[in-house]
Amino acid sequence: MRIWKFLTTIVLISLFPLLVFAQKVVSLSVGKDKNYYKIFITFDGKPHFKVFKDPKRDLITLKLDNTYRFNREYYSVRVVGERNLITIFVRNPQLSTAKAKVVRKYRTLVVLIPFKHRKFFKYTVVIDPGHGGRDSGATYFGVKEKEINFAVALKLYKLLKEDGRFKVYLTRKGDYFVSLTHRQKFTAQVGADLFISIHANANPYKPYKRGAEFYVLSEKGKYQKFVDLATHPSHALHFLDEDMVRDYAVRKKVLKTTLEFTQEEGEEFAKIARRYWCKYLERFIPCGGIYKRSFAVLKVPGVPTVLVELGYMSHRGELNLLTNSRYQWSIAKTLYRAILDYFNLKMRKN
Ligand SMILES: [Zn+2]
Repeated sequence: MRIWKFLTTIVLISLFPLLVFAQKVVSLSVGKDKNYYKIFITFDGKPHFKVFKDPKRDLITLKLDNTYRFNREYYSVRVVGERNLITIFVRNPQLSTAKAKVVRKYRTLVVLIPFKHRKFFKYTVVIDPGHGGRDSGATYFGVKEKEINFAVALKLYKLLKEDGRFKVYLTRKGDYFVSLTHRQKFTAQVGADLFISIHANANPYKPYKRGAEFYVLSEKGKYQKFVDLATHPSHALHFLDEDMVRDYAVRKKVLKTTLEFTQEEGEEFAKIARRYWCKYLERFIPCGGIYKRSFAVLKVPGVPTVLVELGYMSHRGELNLLTNSRYQWSIAKTLYRAILDYFNLKMRKN
């Protein structure tokens, strides 16, 4: 318990400069017992609040009279305050967002999030094999990109399935066409904790170009999605809980914070994936950079999204590797290792 007191003190000290300008929240701390993870939010008066929950996005939003800007990171939750809203991102899969409740004790709101039974928590990963059906992607030396993407995605799917700690989905299970919008909606619907899109690159003008590249959501992409979903509640319904969508102020704030989450966490995963690529695959296909783009599949609010370009099909040597089943397994294993690292999981001994 002492650790929580210590953490509380740290939080209070770090909040101090903000308190001078604070309008409502005076302290924030977390703690837990054997049934609940608890977040304590203390105000300078009796808070009036309304609770919004979105279990698929692992989100809890409190609507208040006022608060101030803050952003606190803990191992299990991230708490973001802005204007009159406090958004709690629950990142620990052991916690049940759906069953969370908020109780008021004097000037403090206590958010109680119950722990799930062990066998019920799994990380949800969506693997997206790029293209499919009439959309072949790039074609080089008779090889179609959609085939490479699918072969690698399926291997990664198998590794995650065998692991047992994941709920895994593929956005397509064979060679057929799936629209980009469907891929986005599907990812939001299953409540993914991570989305990885698998593609292979090509550059017809620079056949010497090589390397794997990682793409995450850009500022422009974030903005485009925000405008679309903020102005079209019917679109937003595919991505957020109904109650949140209906309240305009909540919808706007939650969209903003969830899109930021998508970008930041996507970048976090991209960094890890790149590091593993450099470690295990560099000698075959060089590890390239991390870039920001406004690709449609990356625009899933509340889900960390990354698109990986496995290598260049326009480079003969890389194409040979990308079509080689053994090398495809190496890629899948490398991405699998990165996923474990991202979720703070250890390799299973078998
Ligand atoms: Zn592609």
